[in-house]
Amino acid sequence: MRTGLACFFLVFLSIVGLQGQQTRLENLQNKTILVFTPHPDDDVFGAGGTIALLNRNHNKVYIVVYTNDDKGSYDPEMSSQRLARIRRAEQEVSEAQLGTSKENILWMGYDDGMLEYAPQPKLTEEATAIIRRIRPDVLLSVDPGEWYERWHKTDHRMAAFNTIDAVRAAEFWLYFPNQKLQMGLEPYQVPEIYFFYPSPQESNYFVNIDSVAELKFDAACKQVSQFEPAIHKYRADWDLKDMEKAKDEMRREQPRKDGHYVEAFRYSTGFNQY
Ligand SMILES: [Zn+2]
Repeated sequence: MRTGLACFFLVFLSIVGLQGQQTRLENLQNKTILVFTPHPDDDVFGAGGTIALLNRNHNKVYIVVYTNDDKGSYDPEMSSQRLARIRRAEQEVSEAQLGTSKENILWMGYDDGMLEYAPQPKLTEEATAIIRRIRPDVLLSVDPGEWYERWHKTDHRMAAFNTIDAVRAAEFWLYFPNQKLQMGLEPYQVPEIYFFYPSPQESNYFVNIDSVAELKFDAACKQVSQFEPAIHKYRADWDLKDMEKAKDEMRREQPRKDGHYVEAFRYSTGFNQY
């Protein structure tokens, strides 16, 4: 009995010890990070502070954008083609603010709001190829939920499910075997995943972003077309007072924990097998 108890504590301590050794996301260095985002801004809103910290720590950060975000304007003068161009430029400037170069932003090019109607095998195959090519140490994506599936808006829910489906496919070479046979892409198992936009009951990991919070709010403001008054009548720049108002709102809305700005994630090392 006593031996059993001792063994239990040894196992317990070794598990705690192992967890203690794991490098926290914000402290990673010289790793490859792959971020999947439904639209060109969810990466910034959901994980911008963390991305800034990862770039500051000399990690190689890649951003994959599922859609071109070409619909979200009330401006009668706007066209989808023009909005897609604007959104692309805004995303490049916004991510640059966080330290990501535009060469590291990959555009899958699906139309805004249409991800659920994209050919499924093609969508998963494309995301799988990206994972097998980039071979990330850490992957970030919208949370599909483990026990609590969340009602995400369209594109977000599709991106959430598609990315984790691609994570699964990436490790078994018989999914899309042409990627190995013709493209030389070997199967790959993603070791760690941090899901942003988690449901509150499944958030299990919080990154303190105090040191980069203002940088994140600055970067978010580079997405000018996503804020009023530019949503109703597009303009490329801000009135200073409008920008300050938007930033004040971000400061209010950014989650806090123990008095610190945080970004919430659900940490996972794999996909549901059931
Ligand atoms: Zn979005």
